[in-house]
Amino acid sequence: MEIKLFNNLTRQKEIFQPITQNEVKFYSCGPTTYDFLHVGNARALVVGDLIHRVLMALGYKVNFVRNYTDVDDKIIERANEMKADAIEYAARFVKECEQDMNSLAMLPATHTPKVSETIPEIISMIEELIKNGFGYVVDGEVLYHVPKFKDYGKLSKVQLESLQHGIRVEVDGHKKHPSDFVLWKPAKVGEPSWDSPWGKGRPGWHIECSAMAKKWLGKTIDIHHGGVDLQFPHHENEIAQSEAANGCLFCKVWAHNEFLNFGSIKMSKSLGNVVTIRKFVETYSGAILRHILLSVHYRSKLDWTEESISKAITEMERIHEFVILLNKSKASSQEDLEEVKKISESFESIRTELANDFNIPGALGHFFGVIKDFNRQIKMGVSSQYLNEVIKCVELVKLSTGLIHDHPEKILSELNHARKNLTGSTDGQNELEIQMLVEERKEARSSKNWARSDEIRNRLNELGVSVKDNPDGSVSWSYK
Ligand code: AMP
Ligand code: ZN
Repeated sequence: MEIKLFNNLTRQKEIFQPITQNEVKFYSCGPTTYDFLHVGNARALVVGDLIHRVLMALGYKVNFVRNYTDVDDKIIERANEMKADAIEYAARFVKECEQDMNSLAMLPATHTPKVSETIPEIISMIEELIKNGFGYVVDGEVLYHVPKFKDYGKLSKVQLESLQHGIRVEVDGHKKHPSDFVLWKPAKVGEPSWDSPWGKGRPGWHIECSAMAKKWLGKTIDIHHGGVDLQFPHHENEIAQSEAANGCLFCKVWAHNEFLNFGSIKMSKSLGNVVTIRKFVETYSGAILRHILLSVHYRSKLDWTEESISKAITEMERIHEFVILLNKSKASSQEDLEEVKKISESFESIRTELANDFNIPGALGHFFGVIKDFNRQIKMGVSSQYLNEVIKCVELVKLSTGLIHDHPEKILSELNHARKNLTGSTDGQNELEIQMLVEERKEARSSKNWARSDEIRNRLNELGVSVKDNPDGSVSWSYK
């Protein structure tokens, strides 16, 4: 199947052609591990997982590398404040991050390298850069000379001249050019350090991703992903390093996810407007967070609101109530070819949306159409072919999005609990759902689908609602 991806390098959608047929070399910039991650970080992680899953679901073998930055100024600063060893401190937050990723139903990456375990490869890449005339040494520090790399700016479209403008030269007296960046920093007291040809020290930030991508994926990779804030300077510098060291193209397709915003401002640790993944999972659930994060296309901004939580809960209930009903359903009709065709067309439409730059909202739109069709058809009886086509859609959405979970009953009770914890808009939302359920129960009863009608009554019970069937055929409901 043809996949179209938006490539930030060319700023257009392109047909994806991997270097090796049916295989994808995919790198995503992972977290810096010095604190609990917030739901904005979760967006970047879940989008990385989504790219991995969709490519797999569309038949590719994906070699997926996502790093941990476990050597960094912020980690060292925080560890020193806590009187802890920086590497051990970072290792603790790698574990916390793994716990968060599990709660978000993320599949494991193929490799999850750490800076502290990649030092020899980093050093040899810096040596290569010095040999090729791109790196230079000043007092134990190694710097990358940006003007030497003629393609600098090809991703972010920044102009070197404009970068120079307004920068006071005396600030960075040891640099040949104000845009030159650090490849290797000399060791300071109280910091982790390693031996190198330039004395004891540690890597700068950007070099780790160039070295890890090369180590695990080779010199040229297919797709590189990260948050949109990483485009410049991080990804621009990765290109400059890798292409100058390896003498060939670094990456074919660059994908960047947009921000998760809180009141139109980026959610960010430094601004203090964060909700941690841990806190959200405790109050609601990881499955709900995943649903919110994937309900908006990865290249659109996502506004964090209570309404987005409430909407996710409603959609998830719809999906998992459908799965419960599907699991119990048995074929009872011999032939419904037209209906089967409709579902198999929906399956193709879901695949097409997935292959259209990971358009999850589009794919879910078709999937909800399948649910609607199924809920109607099941009352009249369906064939085994029909059920098989529906199951194919479920399996596709499950693998590619991770939005359909095992143990749907457990998910429903989690959702119920989450709704109780949601304030403000909750009541209106609840009533909307109750109204929909009451209507659906009426339909179920009139088509003598007693099993469904009982299920709905139980669900209403969980929501604290009792229903009364009046002698004139109308139904009234009230809170118990
Ligand atoms: P950091 O720990 O700040 O280096 O961020 C780790 C990853 O999370 C990077 O890919 C960032 O681009 C991404 N990120 C941080 N904040 C947000 C946000 N509010 N929305 C989306 N992605 C974010
Ligand atoms: Zn990176």
